[in-house]
Amino acid sequence: MARPVRRLYTASWVLTMDGPALEGGAVLVEGPVIRAVGRPAEVAPLAAGAERVDLPGCTLLPPLVNAHAHLELWGLVPPAGPGGFARWVLQVVARKRSAAPGRWGPAVAEAARACAQGGQGCVADVVTRPEAATAYPEQCLRILAYPELIVASPGRVEEAWAGVERLEEGCRPHLWGVSPHSPYTVCTEGLRRALARPRLMVHVAESPDEIEFCLTGRGPIRDELYAALGIDPPPPPGRPPVEWLHAIGALRPGTTLVHAVHLGAEHVALVARAGAGVVLCPRSNRRLSGRPAPGRELLEAGVPVGLGTDSVLSSGSLDLWADAAASVEDYGWTPQEALAAATRGGARVLGLGREAGCFAPGASADILAVRAWGSDPWEATLADRRAVGMWLGGEEGSWAGSGGSFGTYGTESGGTSSPGSS
Ligand SMILES: [Zn+2]
Repeated sequence: MARPVRRLYTASWVLTMDGPALEGGAVLVEGPVIRAVGRPAEVAPLAAGAERVDLPGCTLLPPLVNAHAHLELWGLVPPAGPGGFARWVLQVVARKRSAAPGRWGPAVAEAARACAQGGQGCVADVVTRPEAATAYPEQCLRILAYPELIVASPGRVEEAWAGVERLEEGCRPHLWGVSPHSPYTVCTEGLRRALARPRLMVHVAESPDEIEFCLTGRGPIRDELYAALGIDPPPPPGRPPVEWLHAIGALRPGTTLVHAVHLGAEHVALVARAGAGVVLCPRSNRRLSGRPAPGRELLEAGVPVGLGTDSVLSSGSLDLWADAAASVEDYGWTPQEALAAATRGGARVLGLGREAGCFAPGASADILAVRAWGSDPWEATLADRRAVGMWLGGEEGSWAGSGGSFGTYGTESGGTSSPGSS
């Protein structure tokens, strides 16, 4: 049997996401797995005969983990003009209903390509259309699919759950969890049904409209959204959304809370105690949530925190670098904290452990090269945000040669390769 390919990557900086930046760092890969990370002098003795990929002027870091997206909405036109959260949701529903039936599969394929070109190696995607579920690419990036559950009426839970199971079939082999959409679209009985699955992703505490609905059953969610749809909303939880999840047993390890903007200090503590994770979507929240999420408080409480782009209809793009930059502005995070959330934090939230988001012996050989100059590699990486090469499981990104500037590095046994010209 042929020996697996061994490859030694060196660069000006290596960000392991597990400690300080390594100046002049090296990563040794054997087949699909990382064997060693460290300074070249430490790694070189292990790397005899390995192909070399030397990347001067570049920083190596784990590919980004986009911990919350809606790829199928790629290409739809964002709602414009004034109006609060409920009105925005109504416009999203209208766009989905009027979209051409054949659009969903191509939209997912194009969105996945945009994510990979932006340096994302992993995307957690909420999916609602069977055509989208079957269009995930097999290569280029890892997709963790969460079929969506929406069911306002307790009498329709089994019917809605059957729809989730059909989506689950279509999502294989990418199936990862289930997404009971939110406290204003899923009744208590629906959320209980979803507890059968170990990994949940729920939009929680996103907007003042949601909080008002949860506490009183009133406000724009009822009067604008459900009135226009001509259906009854779910019975309101009668308590803040995080407390509703807790009361039903859904606030637990494996549950991902998306947005988590309107949390009190007691809710941050409750999430931390329960062992749930949080995905923050700062650009989406700027558009829809009225204030930034308590990003600093969540980190200080020890909650696993990742970053997500949400959909293009709220954030405008699937550029996770932009969300990392926004998190520095909105939460007062350092660039290191932002990049950690965009990689290792997202992997922790999604339950990937050390399989993704960090450089460590035994981890998948996922490597992102970014051209970044400056004395502080965290700051420079976030400022430049130019992904120039990505390898997943030791394989170079399949987007190479697709016309973009992605994946332009070659490799040469025993020799040295240098950055391409594009
Ligand atoms: Zn979302």
